This record gives sequence, C-alpha cells and structure tokens, in this order.
Amino acid sequence: MESRPEKLPRPGVPALDEILGRAFPVLDDGLVRVVDYMGDDAAIVQAARVSYGSGTKKTSDDRSLIRYLLRHRHTTPFEMCSLKLHVRVPMDAWRQWIRHRTASINEYSTRYSVAINSAQQTAGDQWRTQAVDNKQGSGSFLDRDTGTILSASEKAHQDSTRKLYQDRIDQGVAREQARKDLPLCTYTEAYWKMDLHNLLHFLALRMDSHAQKEIRDYATVIGQEIVARWVPMTWEAFHDYRFGAMYFSRIESGIIAAIGKGEAEEANTLAKAAGWLKPARNGGLVPNRERLEFSEKLRQLNLQIPWEQ
Ligand SMILES: Cc1cc2nc3c(=O)[nH]c(=O)nc-3n(C[C@H](O)[C@H](O)[C@H](O)COP(=O)(O)OP(=O)(O)OC[C@H]3O[C@@H](n4cnc5c(N)ncnc54)[C@H](O)[C@@H]3O)c2cc1C
Repeated sequence: MESRPEKLPRPGVPALDEILGRAFPVLDDGLVRVVDYMGDDAAIVQAARVSYGSGTKKTSDDRSLIRYLLRHRHTTPFEMCSLKLHVRVPMDAWRQWIRHRTASINEYSTRYSVAINSAQQTAGDQWRTQAVDNKQGSGSFLDRDTGTILSASEKAHQDSTRKLYQDRIDQGVAREQARKDLPLCTYTEAYWKMDLHNLLHFLALRMDSHAQKEIRDYATVIGQEIVARWVPMTWEAFHDYRFGAMYFSRIESGIIAAIGKGEAEEANTLAKAAGWLKPARNGGLVPNRERLEFSEKLRQLNLQIPWEQ
C-alpha cells in the first residue's frame, strides 16, 4: 500500500482546554486538575473505523458508533484517549486509588522532600456511623456535639504527629525514616495518567455509592467536571450503558420473565433453586445478599417482589 502523507490537525477539545491547569477543590485541601490530555470523541471513532472499514462511515454517525462500542464492550478504541491529572489526596483515599493498576503514576516523594504539611480534617457534622447492612460502608451522621468533640481530638492528634515528625527532621533523622508515624490523613500529590477505557472503569467503581465517600468525591469531580467536558459523547454513553444501567444475572432474568408472565410461584421456585429463600429458624428468610440486591433492583423497576408477597 502506498504511504501518502496526510496532513492531520492536532485534535483539541476547547471545553477542556479552557480548564487546563484549573484546580478543582476536593475535600478540605485536596484538588484535581488536568495537566494534559490526548484524543477526543473523534479519536475513538477514528480508531474504530480502522477496524470496521470505511463502509460504516456512511451509516453510523459518531455518536451512535461510540454508543455501539460502549454497549458492546468494544473497548480498545477508548484506549486511544488519555488523561493526565495532578491530584492532591489524603493518603487513605490514595491507598484505594492506586489499586487501579492501569495508571501511570509519579507521586511526591517523602524520602526526597519533607512531607506535605496538610492533613485532611473532618468537620464536626461529617462523622459517619458504621453501616449496619454493609460491613464496608457508612450509615448516617453522628450528632454534631459528638462530632465536634471527635474533630477536636482529631486536630490534636494530627498536630502532635506532625510535631513528632518535625522534631525528627529537626534532629537530623532521614526523611525516609522520620515519616513512618505520619497519619494516613496526610495529603500526598501525584501525577496520574490513564487511558479512557480504564478511566471509565475507575469511575464506574469509584463514583458508585458503594465506594468510600472520600474517593467518591474525587471520582465525581473527575467524571462530572473533566470527562464530561473532554468526551461528551462517551460520557453520555457511559451513563446510559454503564453507570446508570442495571445488569441482570441469568437467574435474575429468569425471575423477571416469570414476574412478567404473572407467575409469582415460578419466580419463587427459581429463587428457591438458587438458594435465596432458606427459611430462618425464627421465621422469615435467612439473609441472602444476592436476594437483597435483586429485591432492590425489582423495587427500582416498580416490580412486585415475589418472596415478599
Ligand atoms: C467498593 C470497593 C471495595 C473494595 N474492597 C476491597 C477490599 O476489601 N480489599 C482489597 O484488597 N481491595 C478492595 N477493593 C479494590 C478492588 O478489589 C480492586 O483492586 C480495585 O477496585 C481495582 O480494580 P481493578 O483491578 O479492576 O482495576 P485496575 O487495576 O485499573 O485494572 C483494570 C482491569 O485491568 C485488568 N488487570 C489489571 N491488572 C491485572 C492483572 N495483574 N491481572 C489480570 N488482569 C489485570 C483487569 O481486567 C482489571 O479489571 C475494593 C474496591 C471497591 C470499588
């Protein structure tokens, strides 16, 4: 094939260019800002059309092609886009964040430099109770009086650990050793780069209500303030087919089909076969996570829950 040089314009997204470098505040002293990016919605389409050939160009417009790709998990075209962020995050949220292994990361070094003198503080009305139904989650808020006391003791602890750290530094202890007792609320900073396919995966997990609030705050800013401006068609498709979508297992689909036919007994038989309806000794049903999650889906769909009738 003859290779002919083709003049290509540098792809740019004016809506994202407008906010390049702007710090979006998160938590009490955190931030997220776009340092750089590559690609746009058109780059996804361009890559996809290489695999589909020019024939599709006539029939599918960019938006419907992007929606098709996302719906059918044809993921590699989304890897053509990348986003580089500068983030400032407390170390406990950062610990969750860096579990996402598909990013390229360079973090502030507390071996090389004195640790950032900032620790995330919790306002008196922001202390959350332990969730009853989810061992990993939070419930409601503690009362403000209790919270105010907790915030005061938090501040005292943070001040004292910072002083301990600073005393070590002043006495000549190596920064790499002096840092060992710094609390996880200490802010760190990093450059974090990820392609759009993996970024959507990150956002789906970390914007979700099951993610811890602190990292959810970051993911929400990245999604709503940055990705929405950068690749609006992809963002729309992500909401329609991923974030706002509901998925059903084989068992769940069977039960919904039975409900649709008005066959509550058949629905219960399927649920029983799945082991969801074991009777509890003191009446009612043994708690079953899958059943509870599916019941919630049925409620959202305004469908009758056969085992609650
Ligand atoms: C609500 C919630 C609760 C969590 N609770 C815990 C917990 O209690 N304990 C805990 O340790 N973690 C926990 N995690 C972290 C979770 O298990 C994942 O490590 C994290 O979400 C990163 O997901 P990932 O591996 O899909 O993402 P990435 O690391 O970004 O990877 C993206 C995808 O790339 C592929 N991939 C990447 N690396 C590999 C590899 N080495 N081998 C094969 N495929 C790979 C996988 O398909 C993966 O889904 C929790 C996460 C969430 C969202």
